[in-house]
Amino acid sequence: MSFKRDFVSPPLQETGPSNGVKNMGWFKRSPWVLHYNATSCNGCDIEVIASLTPLYDLERFGIINTGNPKHADILLATGSVNEKSVQVLKTLYDQMPNPKVIVAVGLCAISGCVFQDCYNVQGGVDKVLPVDVYVPGCAARPESIIDGVLKACEILEEKYMRRRKSNVRMQP
Ligand code: SF4
Repeated sequence: MSFKRDFVSPPLQETGPSNGVKNMGWFKRSPWVLHYNATSCNGCDIEVIASLTPLYDLERFGIINTGNPKHADILLATGSVNEKSVQVLKTLYDQMPNPKVIVAVGLCAISGCVFQDCYNVQGGVDKVLPVDVYVPGCAARPESIIDGVLKACEILEEKYMRRRKSNVRMQP
């Protein structure tokens, strides 16, 4: 499989259901993910990276990691949100093109986990952004992260189809 951003010929829906993702035919390119560590202990971040390596191979679905929010479709956020990471998360979100999907990876990103009562912690990522997918675990396992990203691809497609139907600009 090619990992180029503009691949998809033929569309994935014509390759059959074996990829585990329903009807990704609208993708004219590979969905790209952006990874941001809000205040993680790095446990979940290691697992995000592991899910991209050849052993777990998230890239087999044509999904690529990018460092540029302007190229990203899916945000993978790890760690709880503190005062300093709030604005960074908002800025990353604003820079991502629509439609976009937010995935909270790990218990810290979901709720703040054991850090939720810390003086500087505001809670999970959904205190700041509209989270679409929650991936549980401490740390979240690569299999769960892959599952979450594929769910995010389905939501991305739904958002895209809604946007096309209403023929209006998708609001965040
Ligand atoms: S969920 Fe666990 S592994 Fe992940 S950032 Fe929080 S403490 Fe670390």
